[in-house]
Amino acid sequence: MKIFNTLSGQKENLPENRPLRLFVCGPTVYNYAHIGNARTYVSFDNFVSYLRSRGIKVSYLQNITDVDDKIIKRGLEESVSPMEIAGKYEKIYHEDEKSLKIDSVNKYARATDHIPEIIKQIQILIEKGHAYKIENEGYYYDISTFKEYGKLSKRTAEQAEDATSRIDEGVNKKNKGDFALWKFPKSEVGGNKNGKSFAIINGEPIWNTPLGWGRPGWHIEDTAITEKYFGPQYDIHGGAVDLKFPHHEAEIAQQEAASGKKPLVKIWMHTGFLLFGEEKMSKSSGKFVSIRDFLKMYSADIFRYIIASHNYRSPINYTDQLAIEAGKNINSIIEFLTKISLVKKSGTPQIDIAKYEKSFIDSLDDDFNTPKALSVIFDLINEANLKIQSITKKDAVSAKKYIAEKLGLFKVSVKMPRIPLKIRLLAWRRKLLRNNKQFAKSDLLRKKIEALGYKIDDTPLGTIILKS
Ligand code: AMP
Repeated sequence: MKIFNTLSGQKENLPENRPLRLFVCGPTVYNYAHIGNARTYVSFDNFVSYLRSRGIKVSYLQNITDVDDKIIKRGLEESVSPMEIAGKYEKIYHEDEKSLKIDSVNKYARATDHIPEIIKQIQILIEKGHAYKIENEGYYYDISTFKEYGKLSKRTAEQAEDATSRIDEGVNKKNKGDFALWKFPKSEVGGNKNGKSFAIINGEPIWNTPLGWGRPGWHIEDTAITEKYFGPQYDIHGGAVDLKFPHHEAEIAQQEAASGKKPLVKIWMHTGFLLFGEEKMSKSSGKFVSIRDFLKMYSADIFRYIIASHNYRSPINYTDQLAIEAGKNINSIIEFLTKISLVKKSGTPQIDIAKYEKSFIDSLDDDFNTPKALSVIFDLINEANLKIQSITKKDAVSAKKYIAEKLGLFKVSVKMPRIPLKIRLLAWRRKLLRNNKQFAKSDLLRKKIEALGYKIDDTPLGTIILKS
């Protein structure tokens, strides 16, 4: 399987015949996650689901950023501890993942559970001359000591679309792009705290460590976590494009400098943005649709269909119309599956499912092209529709199984709805009326069925009832 590697700018083969280690940047837990975040997490959930379906073992690790300026700010605004904010939104994040059927992550690792690993890595960077101290500010990474800084994003300065709200501003830095590894407390730490290992002062959570009291910078948690679980080198690192610079660039600089081994990661996979209007959907701009608000209007299947119908690297311009169209597409597949359930014919199968399977796999093996894979399913539906009078029950059964299984990889359910007895009886009475050519009366019953949220479709194979 080939995947586009941001580092090389080319599609590259995934390592074969061995388990893969995947790390994806997890959420900063200070607010409800939005459907932009979900775009990235569902894309990777689909990717892992596909790899596992091909028999490839994937160890999928995600961090949880539970110490950060934004969490501290939120805690102060709500007069609660930052840990309470982080705990609350971490729980909400997992609930939202469940609602969206995301279940492929093997291990979630909180930044605050890895303070010793973070300190160890910073100490190595200090020893090797990559980090320096600024009194009253913290320890910083000196980007001039890492000659390859910029190799992932092909630049060393920020641009408008970066996750820049977390750029470290310090005025005494050696280089403008230097970033914080360890941040000293903003307020004085009273003597009574010195025997303690953790304190919250003026809303800021701080740890007592060999580097002094303080808290980690944003980038260091990821490499401390991945080194602990995967070692200094691993296979795939994911996140959305906003994280390429400076976040992922910083990760490379930290880990490759600390271990002396490169590359940190074989393949860097970046998802495109989910846009809202012309802009990237983001929590900090306040312009976002939370996962919860989306799910009040539409189903998880609709969200997952939207994601699968876009290439993971392409932007998605989110509008309600997109969700409505996705719903219609899912319904059209359900309609097709309901219709072919009426096929009774025996005889030689007419449809070559293996041909579709080959195209489906080829599409996904080529940089995980999910829209192309979805189009293969529609090609199969089109062929079956064209041959609807000649296909056999065997064709119908295998097409139904195949389509449900393939959409199941993207966790889009196309289960045929259970039709209540009352509706089935109305449909049966309508049929009798039609057989007796009492069309006016049968039309009245059709309207009644529609008013109850169902619709009747008279296909060449017979009548089907669907949810409207
Ligand atoms: P955050 O909680 O802001 O740290 O973001 C968590 C994850 O969601 C990261 O991988 C981000 O790159 C990703 N992300 C944030 N906003 C968007 C967006 N609008 N579209 C796609 N991915 C996003």
